[in-house]
Amino acid sequence: KYSYSEEVIKQTEAYGANNYHPLPIVISGAEGVWVKDPEGNRYMDMLSAYSAVNQGHRHPKIIDALKKQADRVTLTSRAFHSDQLGPWYETICKLTKKEMALPMNTGAEAVETAIKAARRWGYTNKQIEENKAEIIACDGNFHGRTMSAVSLSSEEEYKQGFGPLLPGIKRIPYGDLEALQKAITPNTVAFLIEPIQGEAGIVLPPEGFLKAAANICKKEDVLFIADEIQVGLARTGKMFACDWEDVEPDMLILGKALGGGVFPISCVVANKDILGVFNPGSHGSTFGGNPLACAVSLASLQVLEEEHLAERSFRLGEYFKEQLKKINSSLIKEIRGRGLFIGVELTTSARPYCERLKEEGLLCKETHNTVIRFAPPLIISQEDLDWAIRKIHSVLSN
Ligand code: PLP
Repeated sequence: KYSYSEEVIKQTEAYGANNYHPLPIVISGAEGVWVKDPEGNRYMDMLSAYSAVNQGHRHPKIIDALKKQADRVTLTSRAFHSDQLGPWYETICKLTKKEMALPMNTGAEAVETAIKAARRWGYTNKQIEENKAEIIACDGNFHGRTMSAVSLSSEEEYKQGFGPLLPGIKRIPYGDLEALQKAITPNTVAFLIEPIQGEAGIVLPPEGFLKAAANICKKEDVLFIADEIQVGLARTGKMFACDWEDVEPDMLILGKALGGGVFPISCVVANKDILGVFNPGSHGSTFGGNPLACAVSLASLQVLEEEHLAERSFRLGEYFKEQLKKINSSLIKEIRGRGLFIGVELTTSARPYCERLKEEGLLCKETHNTVIRFAPPLIISQEDLDWAIRKIHSVLSN
């Protein structure tokens, strides 16, 4: 006789496309930093759905906004105005200090939007010859799974069998200023970068790189585009990861926690001289900026501010890193990260340790084979964090 969890996993494996390799746990409920399975076992979520659940699972304020909006109107399409979209536009622009925003649903769609905006900006502002626009991306990047996003990628696994890919893309080593300068041509429209690379294994650029790269872009009339889908919205201990170097990107891409892990919403924000290149008919999405998403997003942003989650992430993140550094283990190669966005690089495959941590009640996911990512919801209490640290010590200590 199978448990219900085993049945669900069998069903998933029988009918689901095989594009993920989840840990063998079924989640059927969640609250705050805790999730549970159908058998009633409780686990701490140390992944936060890749930083989408920064505000914690089912934050009461966000769920309340969802329910209230569900009782009013959920979808208008952009054929009409909605009373949630106007306030959302103003809120996101004020938060990011930009003049314009464009809402989509998923992160990859927002990346697509940024690429389209940058290309069109190049053709209209730099008089680049038609179809010649170039975008510079970084080795090890992750910008999503759409054709443009995988075309940007340096990972063979993400692209194999999906060609032809998007032309007009160059890549430089992450954090290499000289390579950036060299890659820029008169046809370059944008430099697209994650201020910290999440999927690559919590990889930080050399100190000062973001600022210097932004300066090069300014000098060369190239747009500096920050993909903060994973690292933005308080995750790294500042509202935006670019804030760490006082960099104001020309375009900022947000997603994930923008909807509090409750409803998908993503966006691109920029000033009018850039995002103003779109006119009616040039871009859109049926669900982009829908009332339910906007209501949820407004509440999600409010929670980040009211609960000072950026400061909290910074404070607890520093503490967490300090405690991790006390682990006496020949397994640990490096501990790095900012705020509650921490990577522990092992000298060996991380997967078996994620499985051991799961047995201890801690849900983590390996990234890039050898890195364990610790990214709990930012609302985590000191007490819960200490509990997690004890478990991590017991699994990773020699
Ligand atoms: N960009 C970055 C930096 C991400 O981390 C992700 C998702 O992990 C994406 C883009 C893609 O977002 P989505 O999965 O919502 O399309």
